[in-house]
Amino acid sequence: MTTETLPAPDADHAPTTDRYDAIVIGAGPAGLYELYLLRQKGLDVRVIEAGSGVGGTWYWNRYPGCRLHSESVTYQYFFSEEMLAHWDWSEVFAGQPELERYFDKVADIYDLRRDIEFETRVVSMTFDEDTDDWTLVTDTGKTFTAHVVVSATGMLSAPIYPDVPGRESFRGEAYHTARWPKDEVSFANKKVVVVGTGSSGVQIIPQIAATADHLTVLMRTPNWVIPLNNRAIEQDELTDLRTRWPELHEKLKNTTGGFLHDVDPTPTTSYSPEELLERYEKAWAGTGFTKWFGMPVDVLTDEKANRHFAEFIAEKVRRRLADPKIADLLIPQHLYGVKPVECESGNYYEVYNQDNVELVPVAQDPIQEITPTGIRTGSREIDADVIVFATGFEAFVGALNRIEITGVGGRTLRKNWADGPETYLGVQVAGFPNLFMIGGPHGKGGHGNSPRCAEGPLEWIADLTEKITTESIKRVEPDPRAQAEWTKHVYETGNASFVAKGKSYLFGDNVPGRKRAYVAYIGSLPEFVSRLRTVAANDYEGFVITR
Ligand SMILES: Cc1cc2nc3c(=O)[nH]c(=O)nc-3n(C[C@H](O)[C@H](O)[C@H](O)COP(=O)(O)OP(=O)(O)OC[C@H]3O[C@@H](n4cnc5c(N)ncnc54)[C@H](O)[C@@H]3O)c2cc1C
Repeated sequence: MTTETLPAPDADHAPTTDRYDAIVIGAGPAGLYELYLLRQKGLDVRVIEAGSGVGGTWYWNRYPGCRLHSESVTYQYFFSEEMLAHWDWSEVFAGQPELERYFDKVADIYDLRRDIEFETRVVSMTFDEDTDDWTLVTDTGKTFTAHVVVSATGMLSAPIYPDVPGRESFRGEAYHTARWPKDEVSFANKKVVVVGTGSSGVQIIPQIAATADHLTVLMRTPNWVIPLNNRAIEQDELTDLRTRWPELHEKLKNTTGGFLHDVDPTPTTSYSPEELLERYEKAWAGTGFTKWFGMPVDVLTDEKANRHFAEFIAEKVRRRLADPKIADLLIPQHLYGVKPVECESGNYYEVYNQDNVELVPVAQDPIQEITPTGIRTGSREIDADVIVFATGFEAFVGALNRIEITGVGGRTLRKNWADGPETYLGVQVAGFPNLFMIGGPHGKGGHGNSPRCAEGPLEWIADLTEKITTESIKRVEPDPRAQAEWTKHVYETGNASFVAKGKSYLFGDNVPGRKRAYVAYIGSLPEFVSRLRTVAANDYEGFVITR
């Protein structure tokens, strides 16, 4: 996969510099909350956002079918009494348009846009060892200076494309799902090729198949796909939620991943075969990730239990497909949950029964080239009027790697992380003082049900930023020993889990040329937040504070 090309700074704009207590990069769900928090503390803060609107993921991924896999009510902000009182989610799993409206509304209520610099991408930032400030250079030519920088650049925000030549030569329409245009894209009477069957591919494929003249799906690896079981939310459910949202919030803060669903401590071995089947069917009828994180504990820890549940799913898949050979192609061989599990809206597999849809496995016959008229694999040419790249992201590190970040002694973050990231608590890196990360590698700040995982760390960063500002602290950065300890802990946690048995973006395996290194952190959310609190209570243990 190749990365996006960054636009060059606009030479027509004369550089100007503004100085702030803190700059937040990114106006997604995390950046907006951080802006709110820092403003509440009376700090002088500016947000720099590449897009022209707020919402991050929900601003960029406007492809048809884009939707949450977290239940809407669990994904919302809980800090905003106004939104809790007045916002009615229409579906259990909201779609992109509703989410974009939601974040727009939050920005309206709190008048957030006045502190956001839109259509401005940070291309480089350098730490000044004399002033202890960061200087940020943007693609508009405008520069900014701040004592503290919070990067809220997103864990899944840096799109990647197939690492083959010819993309620029294609004469038809080409779109990445994460850079979808605001104007409607029509597939009617067109030959469409979708590259990728990950989360976005699974969501967009049925939408395209409904109207395209012909759809070819290029699949490298099949994924386990479970039904969302989405539906409209009834008014009485919303009324009920209004009375018990503090209770819901508390519950979500205390599940392993911040989701509604948490591990069932009763293992499969405690059930009779009939009871176990009943247990599986009950989960299957439930919402979203109940079929992943809400399963009996051994499904995600014991290979035999895992294979048993996987076979239950495989049988569900077979029943939906007319051609057993297509079923064999679509049923994964890997353990259930070693790679992220995808969600569908009840019509994904049926698409492959349609006459206008062809599934082409490309693991053994890889894409060689994008041509002016389509895509060439080793064995065939596929004509296309439209190519849709559902090829995913350089997760956790991608957005940070695309900024030239230079810390103490001229060291760049990119170079630092060439063999894999090292952080302390996923919030800071030694040698990069006063730079805090959310949704970067090795932190809980984005992995899981993202807003729930991010809120604790964002509040912690805001508190420390206030301390730095009010106490005129020069530098805060991790002690390298604490960083090494945390990195070891991140690897130990990962290696003890099933995810280590799979190839996935959690290890950067989807980015060719990248050394396999763990970029996520799959430890428990409540333990992580409690650790942050303990560190703060112990005078920021593990951090070096220079006054
Ligand atoms: C299709 C899709 C569906 C998802 N569904 C779920 C879900 O159901 N549940 C869940 O928990 N998570 C989901 N996620 C993960 C999702 O990314 C998070 O839920 C959430 O959006 C993270 O918020 P954030 O603010 O940290 O990052 P983002 O929402 O990614 O926002 C980051 C922002 O930073 C900006 N930015 C990045 N680099 C720069 C730069 N150099 N200069 C200026 N601006 C920059 C970007 O433009 C973007 O607006 C999904 C992700 C995708 C892609």
